[in-house]
Amino acid sequence: MHFDKVIKNGRLVTGERIFSGDIGIADGKIAVIEDNLPAEDTKIIDAKGLLVLPGIIDVHVHLQLPFCGTVSVDDFFTGTRAAACGGVTTVIDFAIQNKSGTLYEAVENRRSEADGKVCVDYSLHAVPTDWRDDIRHEMKEIVDYGISTFKMFMVYRSEGLISEDDALFEALEESAKLGVMIGVHAESVTILEFLTDRYHTDEMMRKYGAYCHALSRPWYVEAEAVSRAINWAEATGGNLYIVHMSDGRSAEILNSAKDRQVNVFAETCPHYLLLDDEFFKLKDGHLYGTCPQLKKPEDQRRLWQALAGGELSVISTDTCTFNTEQKAMWNGDFTKIPFGMPGVETLLPLIYLHGVEAGKISLQRMVQLLSTNPAKLMGMYPQKGSLMLGSDADITIIDPESRTTLSYKNLQTNSDWSPYEGFEAMGMPVYTLLRGEIIAENGEFKGKAGSGSFIKRSAPDFNI
Ligand SMILES: [Zn+2]
Repeated sequence: MHFDKVIKNGRLVTGERIFSGDIGIADGKIAVIEDNLPAEDTKIIDAKGLLVLPGIIDVHVHLQLPFCGTVSVDDFFTGTRAAACGGVTTVIDFAIQNKSGTLYEAVENRRSEADGKVCVDYSLHAVPTDWRDDIRHEMKEIVDYGISTFKMFMVYRSEGLISEDDALFEALEESAKLGVMIGVHAESVTILEFLTDRYHTDEMMRKYGAYCHALSRPWYVEAEAVSRAINWAEATGGNLYIVHMSDGRSAEILNSAKDRQVNVFAETCPHYLLLDDEFFKLKDGHLYGTCPQLKKPEDQRRLWQALAGGELSVISTDTCTFNTEQKAMWNGDFTKIPFGMPGVETLLPLIYLHGVEAGKISLQRMVQLLSTNPAKLMGMYPQKGSLMLGSDADITIIDPESRTTLSYKNLQTNSDWSPYEGFEAMGMPVYTLLRGEIIAENGEFKGKAGSGSFIKRSAPDFNI
């Protein structure tokens, strides 16, 4: 049998087990896994001392997103180039419906921006913002097209993105019929707007600066909406996915919903695990503005527990990169901070150090959270998220001993700052392979624009 490449001498880590073996790759797929694979005339990747993982999947990124009158600076090229160097082989972005438009138009628009530019494989979540009967019917067509997840905002009322409870309720009913999943950005819009007004005064902003952002978004802003969305999922029998969970109480609510067999899943992000709201008190505290907001150290502890314990299923990044000039548009007013930060490139080495090496999660659990579960829940398994025969040869090979100090200067992101500047990280990707091709090596980009493809997804596999 001829192989295009053979990965030799590595320790293979999947969501199920850790074992040694050589991987033979042919036509972009994993063709064989066995010991001592003969490999004459074949390109050999020597993975001695390295860990061989299924490619990392980031199910939550916003590349070139128009927001706050500007556009996030990591576009479909630089954002996915950063992904490749960080060991991420698939990303999922969002196709947001225009008012009076259709979901299909939104998907086609977004694909015209991404196709030909992406360096890793990608998909889109469809985002209804103008819930109508024809949109409810359109969901089936979007599923047939290859998009099996939808996302709804419970916030952003004045921006016109919000889905009110009746829309969410009906979409969840539909998700039960179609076997698909509704993601929600869960924050309580009424209390959020009320508290924002309370802190949006000259006096408060002079006194607290960017910390007003944290004061206006305490834990219960999220926890109330998480609880409400779960109630609608329970009432309808729908399939719910809570994006970017940021607080410990919500993890408790999730836990008890799972005990009641509600079909609800959730992700959190590295910034909720590694940063807290004290960062807003720094001189450049406004840079850390995200939505939902950074919470407290006790929230971090509870979220790590939920990752280890199984309530949380996925770590994604919510990458939405704004540079310091864009962030400066806040000009002292916390309601004008462009929300978001870079993250896709640093996901794996941060979680490896602060999760696995720190003893909070096992190596296998990390692979479940960063690859296997995202692939299953997003309907891409076992094409993605596994090292099975016939799977795409999306493979991330890391050096478990390599330590580094992160700086935006050494990263591929278009950002001129990093929320993790000076942070230690570990387990940097040595090779990233996309369908058998090396797209990054030791932090250096080896792929090209357009080496990634749009991936058609099936129904989610809830069996994780
Ligand atoms: Zn987001």
